[in-house]
Amino acid sequence: MTAARILLLGGTGDALKIARQLSSEHVYSLAGLGKVPHDLSCTVRVGGFGGEEGLARYLRDEGIGLVVDATHPYAAQISANAATASRAARVPCWAMRRAAWEPQAGDDWRMVNGWGGIVDALAAFARPLFTLGREPLVHLDEIPAHQFWTVRCLDAHPGSARARVIDARGPFTEAGERALFDAQAIDVIVSKNSGGRATEAKLAVARERGLPVVMLRRPPLSAADREFDSPESVWLAIEALSR
Ligand code: NAP
Repeated sequence: MTAARILLLGGTGDALKIARQLSSEHVYSLAGLGKVPHDLSCTVRVGGFGGEEGLARYLRDEGIGLVVDATHPYAAQISANAATASRAARVPCWAMRRAAWEPQAGDDWRMVNGWGGIVDALAAFARPLFTLGREPLVHLDEIPAHQFWTVRCLDAHPGSARARVIDARGPFTEAGERALFDAQAIDVIVSKNSGGRATEAKLAVARERGLPVVMLRRPPLSAADREFDSPESVWLAIEALSR
């Protein structure tokens, strides 16, 4: 039992780890794009709040005393809304910000901003592997004539004559990534800098093979009242509230 009713904003594996510890008076919130867990003790709600004003209203109506933003580092809109709405409703906003991956010796990272930067950086390559979610799926009719795309994301999709879509959820192993790179003759990887262990094997295999990584820069995120870098440190701080 903690002192304040918590709204946990999630949609990540880290957020789910925190949600598993929360009791029934607390709320775990999901956008509704992925799987909804049905085995949690806390309340699970699904869907947007209607922008920062809708979120501020929700915080007041539901008597929320603490917002914990454990959304993905590229989910910048909900993080901005959480910071603004929490201020408006006068409740603290904590954030779990997973540390970014850092390039190591032997890495060839090409840092880009946005889809246009990705397309430009890929011009010299033929067999990219996209590992940044569903965004490539809306560009399948724009594949340059010299390219074949492999897109790994959480969506089932039939692909096309020049694109294979692989519906897979991490964690991924180095052995598995080697097999995928071989099977698809991958010559460049496209990634978000998500951080964490579950999806970093591709970076190790790219390094081992001297393959470039087109890395989408992280969006700037609003400052939170307290920031944490692991679900365990968030949970310790939540537990400390009741002491
Ligand atoms: P976004 O652009 O920051 O948010 C778009 C809108 O979706 C928000 O304004 C909000 O709608 C709603 N929303 C997002 N997260 C929500 C949550 N946890 N609970 C309730 N509503 C939420 O987010 P996104 O990049 O589309 O990502 C959507 C969700 O997927 C996030 O929760 C994130 O943690 C998860 N995710 C994202 C990525 C990624 O690469 N972006 C990767 C893995 C998981 P309203 O304005 O109507 O409140």
